[in-house]
Amino acid sequence: MLKCDLCSDPHPIARYHTRSFGITTNEDVFPDTPIHLIDDVPYVATDDIHPVRGTGHLVDPDWLACEPCANLIDQQNLDGLIAYCLANFRVSHPFPPDMTESELADFCRYWYTAFFQNLLSTRLPL
Ligand SMILES: [Zn+2]
Repeated sequence: MLKCDLCSDPHPIARYHTRSFGITTNEDVFPDTPIHLIDDVPYVATDDIHPVRGTGHLVDPDWLACEPCANLIDQQNLDGLIAYCLANFRVSHPFPPDMTESELADFCRYWYTAFFQNLLSTRLPL
């Protein structure tokens, strides 16, 4: 089933293309792996992601978006996107129930900052 990759809404209407990128923590990669910080987001080359200890997060370069998220993306409104998704996650997203509001906000900021940093396309049809 399709869903918005930002807020999990079940009715995505658009698609955005990003670079393929690896985002990770020190625990997910070999100790000698170079990690590049870009605006506090830790990146690794996609082939440096550790095969045993963790996969890190190899990001699918196609992101689906619902109408409200697509409008916020088109405006490059990171704060608006985070606020919108936090409101929606409370309803639909399978996050650990013990995750606090501020941890969830940090999680969204981390991912959506990386999304905007790697965004290659404007809005595309689904
Ligand atoms: Zn959405």
